[in-house]
Amino acid sequence: MNVCWTVDVEHDCPPFLTTCRGIEEGMPRLLELFEQEQVRGTFFITGDIARRFPATVAAILDGGHEIGCHGDTHTPFDTLDAATARSEIQASSAVLREFGPVTSFRAPNLRFPDRYVALLEAAGYRLDSSQAKYKRTYWFRGPLETQLARVPASMTSSVLRIPRALRYPILGSLADPAVLFVHFRSSTLRLDCRFRTGQQALDALRQNMRFYRAMGAKGVRMDKLEASGHSTVHR
Ligand SMILES: [Zn+2]
Repeated sequence: MNVCWTVDVEHDCPPFLTTCRGIEEGMPRLLELFEQEQVRGTFFITGDIARRFPATVAAILDGGHEIGCHGDTHTPFDTLDAATARSEIQASSAVLREFGPVTSFRAPNLRFPDRYVALLEAAGYRLDSSQAKYKRTYWFRGPLETQLARVPASMTSSVLRIPRALRYPILGSLADPAVLFVHFRSSTLRLDCRFRTGQQALDALRQNMRFYRAMGAKGVRMDKLEASGHSTVHR
């Protein structure tokens, strides 16, 4: 069993806020937790954050993690015309690749129209994690010719924070590879953005990492999935 721990790195609760408490206060604690648990993950970062917080990107790389692309401004791609979609990908890829190789992509809000997949291939991406198994659109998607490995997110991020008795049976039943994502959340907005956040969320994440370790599951960066001999990566 492979588990990909992924983090979406963006300003706070887009589109509602423009602050960056998650980056400034949350990220150091999150990186410390990954280090303590010896877990290496994939951090999907917006170009905007990479420009404003270069030291954060450097700290993520220092931790042995993969940096991936999360668009430039965190605008959902299904609201963009083709030219703007291309420039979002180009601008974010350019700034992120100043730090190191970037070959994995996840669209903001996990909304990425099939018509733009070719833009990712043209920009040198090898893996896309913009689909989500918990969304109806994933199960009713049409066929698509692509060389990209498409590895959907398994679960919405709030599942990682629900009470343990509910959480463990869900985590234990996910198909391989389990792709889990962590979001920074604000304490004032929608209920799914505020319940059990902060220290409670960190504690739950640590429990989740230990839960999978006890199961014998292996934490894998998304760019290392194929190298780990994984066979069910969708194309
Ligand atoms: Zn996001």
